[in-house]
This record gives sequence, structure tokens and C-alpha cells, in this order.
Amino acid sequence: KLFNEVQELKGNIRVYCRIRPFHPGQREKQSIVEHIGESDLHVANPSKQGKDALKSFKFNKIFGPASTQVEVYSDIQPFIRSVLDGYNVCIFAYGQTGSGKTYTMSGPTGATGEDIGVNYRALNDLFSISTNRTNSIEYVIGVQMPKGLAVPDATMYPVKSPSDVIMLMDIGLKNRAISATAMNERSSRSHSVVSIQVQGKDLSSGSTMFGNLHLVDLAGSERVDRSEVTGDRLKEAQHINKSLSALGDVIFALSQKSSHVPYRNSKLTQLLQTSLGGQAKTLMFVQINSDTNSFSESLSTLKFAERVS
Ligand code: ADP
Ligand code: MG
Repeated sequence: KLFNEVQELKGNIRVYCRIRPFHPGQREKQSIVEHIGESDLHVANPSKQGKDALKSFKFNKIFGPASTQVEVYSDIQPFIRSVLDGYNVCIFAYGQTGSGKTYTMSGPTGATGEDIGVNYRALNDLFSISTNRTNSIEYVIGVQMPKGLAVPDATMYPVKSPSDVIMLMDIGLKNRAISATAMNERSSRSHSVVSIQVQGKDLSSGSTMFGNLHLVDLAGSERVDRSEVTGDRLKEAQHINKSLSALGDVIFALSQKSSHVPYRNSKLTQLLQTSLGGQAKTLMFVQINSDTNSFSESLSTLKFAERVS
């Protein structure tokens, strides 16, 4: 195995925190973040004073507002690469709408160069390594983009290069035939999953291995105000909350090494079942918007993280 470093990591579940920077013009002093350590985050409740206001949370790692896409990727690269050795890996971004989930997973809209997010970097990496190893192992890479989660067996497209994948993603987006604003609206109300499958054939022994990588930009975790939404919107919101808590329950059961893991409670966890638990590696980016106005949402995000880590 080329990427032994992954096996040295403790446990199969890692929880990272990423704190979004303020937009230019926003005032830094409105941040709830009091201290960022290697693995400790202290936040202050803006409506309390002194010691009572402070809460601390532990993570495997914390990426502060100044962290770059390159730093984030270099930390998770060993996991991505282990897919080529036959591991299953799941990477999630969790947090309220506007906390930077899509930024971490894809980058800002129309990202190029340094700004590109985890999914493009991961694809580039998988393709370049698999091409370089062709003298010993022959790889076939396929990508699946279930539209919503209603079709877990969506067509698998074999791809030859990252640009094939980007083209597929673009077609997927165009098919939705909706405006960019509607798209943002939409994406905050649905989970977006990119599944990459890798088949490797060892040319000397003839043995084959399979690995897969799921990159999941989760729907916004914010609680909806029952008084403001009704009908389909309310049903949708309840459905999202249910699937996020089902995901939390699965990861919690795995972190406790519980003998019963409740995969069947949601489409999301059913779809990801083979990539959660067992030898699979799970990484969750818990995204925080540190604005004082978002304190209660941030606190519920941090509590979700506390439970699963
Ligand atoms: P979400 O997907 O959680 O709703 P977005 O990823 O769309 O949130 O981020 C909200 C806004 O903040 C966007 O304008 C995005 O470009 C910006 N943003 C988020 N994270 C970062 C970051 N790490 N660096 C710079 N801008 C960011
Ligand atoms: Mg988003």
C-alpha cells in the first residue's frame, strides 16, 4: 500500500471544523469565536457575560477563517488517495446555509485556480495518480451524480479525465434548467452527492479492487420557523432535518462502535451505507459562520459535531 499514513490515523471518523471568513465590510468584532487552538474551539454566547458565555468544543482539526483551500485539501489528501488502494471514503460538509459548505466542497461559483474546492482537487488527484501508476495497476474511474436521492441507482458514467467530470456536472446543472439564484435556494434545500468509483486491476497478479469516494454537500442544517413555512416547504424542511439527524445517528453509532447502526432511517444513509462504517473512512467538515447573529445556529451545529466526534 502506497498510502500507509491513512492507516495510522486513529479511528475511522474525523470531524473538522472550518470557520468561514467575514465578507469584506463585515466587522470582525462581531465574531463569536474567542479562541482557535489546534483542536479546541472556544465560542462566546453574545447574550451572556464573562465565564458563563464561553463554551468549548473539540475537533480533530480546526481551519480558521484565514485557512486556504490548499491547506484544507493537503490535510485530507491521504484519505482521497486511499480510494486508489480500495478504501471507501465519505466526505461531508455540514452547517447552516451560508456557512461555507459549497465553498469547501466546490469553491466559490465559477472557481478556478487556487479557489477550487475539495471535489475538483480530489478528481485531479485521483486521475493523475491513476495515470502514473498504469505500469502496475490499471484503473477505471466512474462518476455518478444521483439527482436528489430518489434514484440511488443513477447511471454510472465512465470518465477519462477531470474535464469529463466537470462536463457531466455542468450537464447535470443545466438539466435542472433553473436560474442561479433559484439554484442556490434549491441547493440549500437538498443534499448534493457526487460519487466516484475506482476499479483497480493489478496487472501482475490479476486481482481487482474497488474503492469509492462520496463527496456530500449537505442541505442547510438550519431549523425552519414553523410559523413562516407551510405546505410543501414545511414538508421539505422536515424531511431535511430528519435525514440530517439520521446521518448524525449513524455516525454517532459508528463512533460508539455500536453493534446496531441505523442506516435504514433515511435515503441518504441508505445510499451511503457501504461507505459508512467497516473499513470506510468518514470525514465531516462542520462549517461555522461566526457572525454573532448566527450564534444559535452555530451552537446547534457545534452540538451536532460534539455528538458525532
Ligand atoms: P453554503 O454552501 O454553506 O450555503 P457557501 O459556500 O455558499 O455556503 O458560502 C457562503 C458565502 O461565503 C459565499 O459567498 C462564499 O463564497 C463565501 N465563503 C464561504 N467560505 C469561504 C472561505 N473559506 N473563504 C472565502 N469565502 C468564503
Ligand atoms: Mg451551498
